[in-house]
Amino acid sequence: MLIDLHTHSDRSDGTDTPVQLLAGAVAAGLDVLGVTDHDTTGGWEAVTAARPAGLTVVLGTEFSTQVALAGRQVSVHLLGYLFDPTDPTIVAEHLRLRQARLLRGMAIVQRLVAAGVPISEQQVLEIAAGAPVGRPHIGRALVAAGVVDSVTDAFATYLSGQGPYYVPKPDTDLPAAVSMIAAAGGVPVLAHPRGRGEGRVLTPDYIGTLVDLGLAGVEVDHPDHGPEVRGELRELAGRLGLVMTGSSDYHGSNKTLRLGQEHTAPEQLAALIDRSSGVVRPLGPLARAGGGE
Ligand code: AMP
Ligand code: ZN
Ligand code: FE
Ligand code: FE
Repeated sequence: MLIDLHTHSDRSDGTDTPVQLLAGAVAAGLDVLGVTDHDTTGGWEAVTAARPAGLTVVLGTEFSTQVALAGRQVSVHLLGYLFDPTDPTIVAEHLRLRQARLLRGMAIVQRLVAAGVPISEQQVLEIAAGAPVGRPHIGRALVAAGVVDSVTDAFATYLSGQGPYYVPKPDTDLPAAVSMIAAAGGVPVLAHPRGRGEGRVLTPDYIGTLVDLGLAGVEVDHPDHGPEVRGELRELAGRLGLVMTGSSDYHGSNKTLRLGQEHTAPEQLAALIDRSSGVVRPLGPLARAGGGE
C-alpha cells in the first residue's frame, strides 16, 4: 500500500488543480493521498467531489507557525489532519493567516519592483488566483518575467529568506496551533522538522512539550531530510510515542519532486487515524475497511 500524506494543489502554492492532483496520485500508483494546502481548507470540497473511487484521501492543512528564538521568529510548518473544518478558532486563524500572506506577498513584490524587477502585484494576484499568496506565486511571476529559469532558482536568489527582498509573515505560535488542531478533533503532525532551520528550535525537549499539548506525529521521511536526520527522528518518535509519517510535499511543477517519492507505512497511517476524534473520516476504501474507530 503506497501512502503519501503531504501534497499541495493550486488551492495553495502547488500547480495542479485538485482534479489533476488526484489523477496524478492514481497515475503514481498511490493508494492513499493526503492533501494539505497551506492555511486553508478551501480545496477540501473539490477534492471530496473529485476523488477517484479507488483512492483514499486524508484531508488536512499545512499550518504556518512560528517559534521565537533569541528575539527572532523561526518558521515551522505543522500538518493538521482530519480536523473539523468549521471549528471557529481555526476558521478565524486561517483567515488571519491568508490576509497576512496577501500583505506580505505584496510587500515582497514592492521590494522587487523598487529594485527594477519587471513583475507586478496584479500579475502575482492573477497567478495565485484566490489561493493564499506564497513565494512560489511570486516565483512564477519571476519565471514569466525571464529573470530566473525556475521557481527553484527564484528561491535560491530573489526569494531567499536571507535575501534583501524577503519579508516575514506573522504566523501562529506553534503551541497554540498544536492545541487548536487537537481541540478541533484533528491530528497535529510536525512537517519536515529538520527541513530548513527548524532544528534550532525543535529540540527533543521542546517537541516533548508539544506532545503534552496534543502533538501526535512527526514527518520523518521528507525530501529535505537526509539519512542521519531520519534516524534521529525515528528514534525520537519511538521514544515519545509519536506517529512517523513520510511524504513527498509535492507542489506540482513548482518543485522537482514526484508524488509518492516518500511514503508512510500503513500501520503508521492507522495510528494517525486512531488519534483523530472521528469528526472527519478519511474518504474512500480505507474508511470503509475500518480502522481508527
Ligand atoms: P512562503 O510560504 O510564502 O514563505 O513560501 C514557502 C513555501 O514555498 C513552502 O511551502 C515551500 O514548500 C514552497 N516551495 C515551493 N517551491 C519551492 C522551491 N522550489 N524551493 C523552496 N520552497 C518551495
Ligand atoms: Zn508550499
Ligand atoms: Fe512545508
Ligand atoms: Fe508542504
